[in-house]
Amino acid sequence: MSPSPTTVIGAGISGIACARALTDAGLPVRVLDRGRAPGGRMAGRTLHGRAVDLGASYLTVADDGDFAPVVADWVERGLAREWTDTFSVAGPDGIGESKTGPMRYGAVRGLRSLVVDLATGLDLVTERTVAQVRVDDGPTVDGEPAAAVVLALPDPQARRLLAVGSPAETVLDPRGWQPTLAVALGWSQRQWAADLHGAFVHDDPTVEWIADDGDRRGDGAPVLVAHTTAEFAAGHLDDPAQAGPAVAAAVRRALGIDVEPEWTYVHRWTFAKPTDPREAPFHLADGIGLCGDGWAAPSKVESAWTSGHQLGLELARRLVG
Ligand SMILES: Cc1cc2nc3c(=O)[nH]c(=O)nc-3n(C[C@H](O)[C@H](O)[C@H](O)COP(=O)(O)OP(=O)(O)OC[C@H]3O[C@@H](n4cnc5c(N)ncnc54)[C@H](O)[C@@H]3O)c2cc1C
Repeated sequence: MSPSPTTVIGAGISGIACARALTDAGLPVRVLDRGRAPGGRMAGRTLHGRAVDLGASYLTVADDGDFAPVVADWVERGLAREWTDTFSVAGPDGIGESKTGPMRYGAVRGLRSLVVDLATGLDLVTERTVAQVRVDDGPTVDGEPAAAVVLALPDPQARRLLAVGSPAETVLDPRGWQPTLAVALGWSQRQWAADLHGAFVHDDPTVEWIADDGDRRGDGAPVLVAHTTAEFAAGHLDDPAQAGPAVAAAVRRALGIDVEPEWTYVHRWTFAKPTDPREAPFHLADGIGLCGDGWAAPSKVESAWTSGHQLGLELARRLVG
């Protein structure tokens, strides 16, 4: 009989990075995700004929980190592209100065495509919602034994699967995660400054960030994606579509746009980011691992990848040894 595989729950970038590390070590692994495709919070949606990023806006990468060769490979194969290192800063009176930081990378076919690429060849089951993870004689996932189980999920989603008071459940973050709404807005032609890539919006109760989706993707489509403040999102979680007009008004105010968008689309992220991510890269005890952007602070794509990758390496070391 072949050995039970390690089961990774969650096909966001952390779960896929973990599964990749285990597979590369020659260990059997299967990934389960409730969504129709891998990607998690690097998701997008086809709107009006083109893919729009509705989760992470971009990724960054430290030159000397383990993630650097992964990103370099994506760039070399034309999947990822250098977007910009400069964003505008907007306030109540409109656009102010620009701010330069690290290079931000976008993806030609949307950030989800990078996770799909990383998942190539893995045993991945989509549209599978896991209900329960237990440790009796060994770890089980909905009653099926596993060599080990990885919960590559936001803490509130992991909590739903674990018995209250079980060792892994007590490690979960009690401080909560913050919501946001991602609102895509489309025009028939570009209405904003030619040199605008994205804008941090300060002192606005509704919107905190606006990305030029056509600019980051490289096709120049006149589409913006705004992310709301956590406070604004919290008031619209029950009926997010209602938030469209208020977000459109805030975006027009911040960027000085005279014209109403021709269409809007609202996506709700109930658990967009951890309030206080931990410094530790992951948790692993009794055959249960926890990883994702709640670990390896600060919360971002690179941290999620690093968390999953390092957990995968450590699990492989323990399972092989
Ligand atoms: C609006 C927004 C903007 C962001 N902007 C940026 C940015 O600009 N730059 C940056 O670096 N990062 C950004 N981030 C953060 C980045 O997206 C995350 O850090 C990263 O994608 C987290 O990956 P993950 O694998 O840890 O979790 P996730 O991507 O959340 O993956 C978890 C997966 O678990 C699945 N799942 C949940 N419950 C179950 C269950 N019971 N059974 C089976 N599957 C389940 C979900 O479907 C999901 O696919 C942003 C995030 C959001 C939401």
